Amino acid sequence: MNRVLILGAGTAGTMAANHLRGALDESWSITVVDRDDEHHYQPGYLFIPFWMKPERVKKSRRSMLHAGIEFVEAGVSLIHRERREVELIGGRLLAYDWLIIASGTRPDPSLVEGMADGALWRDRVHEFYTLEGSVALKKALADFTGGRILVHISEMPIKCPVAPLEFAFLVEDHFRKKGIRHKVDITYVTPLDGAFTKPVASKELGGLLRDRSIRLAADFAVERIDNDSQRLVSYDGRELPFDLLVTVPPNVGQQFIMDSGLGNDAGFVPVDKHTLRALDDDRIFVLGDASDIPTSKAGSVAHFATEEFIDNFLAAIEDRPLPNAFDGHANCFVESGRGQALLLDFNYETEPLLGTFPVPYAGPLRLLKPTRLNHLGKLAFEQIYWQMLLPGRPIPISSHMTMAGKHKPKE
Ligand SMILES: Cc1cc2nc3c(=O)[nH]c(=O)nc-3n(C[C@H](O)[C@H](O)[C@H](O)COP(=O)(O)OP(=O)(O)OC[C@H]3O[C@@H](n4cnc5c(N)ncnc54)[C@H](O)[C@@H]3O)c2cc1C
Repeated sequence: MNRVLILGAGTAGTMAANHLRGALDESWSITVVDRDDEHHYQPGYLFIPFWMKPERVKKSRRSMLHAGIEFVEAGVSLIHRERREVELIGGRLLAYDWLIIASGTRPDPSLVEGMADGALWRDRVHEFYTLEGSVALKKALADFTGGRILVHISEMPIKCPVAPLEFAFLVEDHFRKKGIRHKVDITYVTPLDGAFTKPVASKELGGLLRDRSIRLAADFAVERIDNDSQRLVSYDGRELPFDLLVTVPPNVGQQFIMDSGLGNDAGFVPVDKHTLRALDDDRIFVLGDASDIPTSKAGSVAHFATEEFIDNFLAAIEDRPLPNAFDGHANCFVESGRGQALLLDFNYETEPLLGTFPVPYAGPLRLLKPTRLNHLGKLAFEQIYWQMLLPGRPIPISSHMTMAGKHKPKE
């Protein structure tokens, strides 16, 4: 029996397991490990503070895995690469021939002084990158009657780098609808030099922040949260007072990656960005947010990369050259409030551009412009996620980015 072991039954691990079960014969066992049996639709965390019921984002991980895949509910504590074994919390060992790491990233609020260890944590300092956090934030928003809100990114990279921007737009819309927008001062605080990483998207999204009277505090490298004076403090001495701080804590790789000597400083596994094979070990592939590939950490990236990975894996096990090269394709909706959203489509080489998607001129989706249809696309993504992506069903969007419909701004 040949053994594939997958660490993590989130977006990437579940898709990979289901695809591989269809591609490998019965001489292969596929085992997936995760610490619990609750798969979360993480994009839903953004909506929970505003309208989505928390129960709606959860499904059993086991129920998302096809027949013929073994699910082991346990935490991973260490990878013993030399013996090709994974040690689980409690000491059980799982042997593998091929290992797929799909353990994602996690927010770690202990990395900023005064965040998780501060008196204001989950009181006036909130996050929405966990289910618990987004539920607590819902209550904080309901109780908020006016004052200064900071929407803040601690450091990059984070998963779904547009989510804090989306939160800023949605919270602005929320207080507008409540009729108290004039009592709420909103600032978007980022370590980047603008609203987003790349010039075209940064210009469009920065313009939208201005339109909504949301201030931008750029190049803000957070040093600490001063809980006594309710201020966010940067290394260069700037201090931003707040009544409500909605932060994205630093996102790091999992502890077992660091303990196994596989990760970089932030705990992400260095891989070949085109094949997703670990640089230090031919028997390991890394899918989803757990790797160090230089594109967004996003479910769409996990999806496109996994599609490219399957044929590479089938080649690797037969010792053939790997046929596919992942191009870093990411496709992200950005909620902009007012029942609208923008769409970003980019890869390693091409920054997000203006245009239409997926069909040139016809769209129907618009790139980098807020439209109602983009928003409906974002909402439809939830069902596409559960019904198409996780089970490994094909969707009519190429895993390679195309320039069709995109146009570069004039120099
Ligand atoms: C607020 C928010 C909004 C988002 N919106 C979007 C969006 O609109 N579009 C989009 O494309 N993406 C979005 N994302 C990002 C998307 O959810 C992630 O990029 C995607 O889930 C990554 O998949 P993954 O499999 O790498 O990691 P995950 O889905 O996080 O799965 C990792 C799994 O590994 C398990 N694991 C970790 N460590 C261990 C261990 N030691 N032992 C056992 N199991 C372990 C975890 O329990 C988890 O199930 C959003 C994320 C957030 C937080």
